[in-house]
Amino acid sequence: MSERPPKMIPDPDGLNAEFYQHLADGNLCLRHCDACGVIHHPPKYLCAACGSEDVHWTPISGKGRIFSWTITHRPIDPGWAPDLPWATVVVEMDEGPRLVGAWRGASNDALRLDLPVRATLENESESFALIYFSPDAEASA
Ligand SMILES: [Zn+2]
Repeated sequence: MSERPPKMIPDPDGLNAEFYQHLADGNLCLRHCDACGVIHHPPKYLCAACGSEDVHWTPISGKGRIFSWTITHRPIDPGWAPDLPWATVVVEMDEGPRLVGAWRGASNDALRLDLPVRATLENESESFALIYFSPDAEASA
């Protein structure tokens, strides 16, 4: 019986560590500016739109549409080898920012620009989780 090799887990710090800790706690959160209302990603201490320091984590819907994707045939990380060929998708979230995640729940042939998708989170450790995107059957195409 062959055991699946573990995936490489980065060691983020600062706001990136906070982002992944929220994911590991089961919450997809991005930085929200209370001054101008913009939600942005990657996380910053100051609002990228207005420069305000009044920026906090806020949960988002997890819903979005596929903006782009790429398919990996030769993994650098052996932890992903059992999933070959696997797709990395860039999703424009309903709140605006784009997030990167792994594709699951349908074949790579099902990937389409603007396809409605929904995020799920899967823990790799107590402080790190991966984002997966699957077709959102409840959304209208
Ligand atoms: Zn702002």
